[in-house]
Amino acid sequence: MRKIYHEDDATLEILENKTVSIIGYGNQGRSWALNLRDSGINVIVGNPEDEYSHLCREDSFDYVSIKKASELGDIVMILLPDEVTPEIYLNEISRGITAGKTLGFASGYCVCYDQISFPEDVNVIMVAPRMLGELCRSFYLEGKGYLSMISVHQDFAGKALEITLALAKGIGSLKDMVMETTFKDETELDLFTEQALLPAFAVALKSAVEILIDSGYNRMESMLELYMSTEIGDVLKRAGEIGFVGQSNKHSPTSHYGTKSRMKRFEDLNMKPIMENVLKEIQSGDFAKEWSKEKENGYKNFKRMIVDFDQTKFAKAEKETLQELGR
Ligand code: NDP
Repeated sequence: MRKIYHEDDATLEILENKTVSIIGYGNQGRSWALNLRDSGINVIVGNPEDEYSHLCREDSFDYVSIKKASELGDIVMILLPDEVTPEIYLNEISRGITAGKTLGFASGYCVCYDQISFPEDVNVIMVAPRMLGELCRSFYLEGKGYLSMISVHQDFAGKALEITLALAKGIGSLKDMVMETTFKDETELDLFTEQALLPAFAVALKSAVEILIDSGYNRMESMLELYMSTEIGDVLKRAGEIGFVGQSNKHSPTSHYGTKSRMKRFEDLNMKPIMENVLKEIQSGDFAKEWSKEKENGYKNFKRMIVDFDQTKFAKAEKETLQELGR
């Protein structure tokens, strides 16, 4: 069984008189910086000069270039998008990662796919929240924890786990729990969820919306029924808390029977081979190569996919409905 840690398994002492440099002030970076500062830890932020840097100044952080932040930090947390990290690491961060420092990530991606190299005399650690960045902040403010996956990839002086747990405590995650994993497993399981489960859900939702609209049902009512009331989100939340089986019993017998009796038809679609293929691309590194290439080509295909999706009947119906609902 994987090792699990709770609030009492860590102290913040090891971070006293240390500086944590947050590289990147986006979804995760901002929450990390604010939560760590509110936990009494000395934080500086490194980010390019852009709209995020204004936000960073508004939040009253010491704001420096990425290069400077990498030099000044005892712990350097890289909270940049995974696909841009290798280049920025090479050009702006790596020279600041000197003996005894800790290099940290919120995702195992770049280390898992050998996209960056680091010296032998530093710690390399991960604290990967299983939570959207903005929610990491609001959960912290509410005094609630959230799950993170942690890993020590390289332990230089025997303190890497202590530092990792202190960071998890500082960002408020340990109030729930953190689980030990490896950079490889964190990366592959995270990508699999994004690439096997979410696309299947998106296609199912899009099909359902389009079928109901084509069958003459009221657009707004259909969308509210299917997902915009957020009931379906609550069902998934309950499934996460008490299990998919457990939450099934909370539905009416009509609902429960309807779901169970129709599941077989969807199983016949045989999604497993598609999912197995997705997993193979992740494990072999083919997906990572494809994504790096996409970045090199200026995200041309990715931008086209976004535009194409925005043109679908589903996306247009969603836009109109949201406008009418004033959301
Ligand atoms: P964001 O997309 O929010 O970007 C983070 C920062 O990177 C921004 O400040 C952005 O500034 C900067 N950045 C982007 N491109 C460049 C570039 N070319 N050069 C310099 N800076 C750049 O990232 P996330 O917070 O979503 O992700 C950060 C890490 O956290 C990733 O490893 C991700 O896997 C992990 N993670 C993310 C979660 C999430 O909820 N989003 C959940 C768990 C883990 P600007 O764009 O203005 O240049």
